[in-house]
Amino acid sequence: MQPHLTPWSVRLARSGRQVFILVTRVRIPYGLQKPPKINVLRGFSFLPQWLMAFSCLTLNLKNMQSPTEHKLLGIRNLTESTYILEVGRKGMSFEPGQHILMGRSDSIHKREYSIYSGNNNENLELLIKEIEDGMVSKSLKKLSVGDSLEIEGPLGFFGLDKKAVEQKKKFLFVASGTGIAPFHSMVKSIPGLDYTLLHGVRYSSEAYEKETYDSEKYVLCTTGDEDGDFHGRVTDYIQQHKFDKDTICYFCGNFNMIKDAMDLLSKKGFSSEQLHAEVYF
Ligand SMILES: Cc1cc2nc3c(=O)[nH]c(=O)nc-3n(C[C@H](O)[C@H](O)[C@H](O)COP(=O)(O)OP(=O)(O)OC[C@H]3O[C@@H](n4cnc5c(N)ncnc54)[C@H](O)[C@@H]3O)c2cc1C
Repeated sequence: MQPHLTPWSVRLARSGRQVFILVTRVRIPYGLQKPPKINVLRGFSFLPQWLMAFSCLTLNLKNMQSPTEHKLLGIRNLTESTYILEVGRKGMSFEPGQHILMGRSDSIHKREYSIYSGNNNENLELLIKEIEDGMVSKSLKKLSVGDSLEIEGPLGFFGLDKKAVEQKKKFLFVASGTGIAPFHSMVKSIPGLDYTLLHGVRYSSEAYEKETYDSEKYVLCTTGDEDGDFHGRVTDYIQQHKFDKDTICYFCGNFNMIKDAMDLLSKKGFSSEQLHAEVYF
């Protein structure tokens, strides 16, 4: 899989001045993350390596937060296996697309969950699929309103480039299953976003809260029934359709879908800078 580099401007005080460096992070499958690498921007190559390494370390330490307790405020069941947890936000600020680490307060086990709610919502929402034999997704479903959860974060860099949003660029969002969660947050948080959202599921009953999206911009791709907008996988849709050359593409969900979709778009002429991915499993 092509590594994906996320630009990230970091303010670093040096000799009373502020300089900006570009930190890049390589995403690799299964959600594992390598420590950020540093790319020196042209013009800042005078910075010694040790100083950049130090800034990176400071940055990582700053991002490491101790877990906080949050109350469960509600559970919405969307299907037999998929539900939304509504959790007290406790003033947490986040960028749409980021995720948290979450588990029951009475357990040491936590998993990553993309924030589903918009950043202007009062509470946090998480869209979760209960996995057969899964440890955390099953145990979270058994919680009752008022129970405590332990949360770390926000974490991650799967966000839209602010400049591209300002420039009203076109976005292609490709999700499988609950991989729609970060895109839901983006659409709720950023009004006027120019996007096409391809949502791949087996059955049309898994079109989680599709009324959130502009029906012109949302394409439900189903493989198990013909009640969606397109019968087939998201990759079939990509293969059969043309996309504007300047489109910036974001993928979220299972690794095989992401790999196949990225391969297809690369073959259609999209550069690796236009392709961004968050792998769930
Ligand atoms: C950055 C990131 C964000 C994530 N955001 C979400 C989210 O918003 N909603 C969500 O439901 N999950 C999300 N996940 C997946 C989540 O972290 C857990 O892996 C998932 O809930 C299963 O955990 P578990 O403890 O129940 O299962 P485990 O006991 O850890 O594992 C059981 C098996 O389930 C597989 N598995 C994991 N996720 C899925 C899935 N969705 N469908 C089928 N099989 C799966 C694993 O590969 C493993 O083989 C995210 C993962 C990452 C890395």
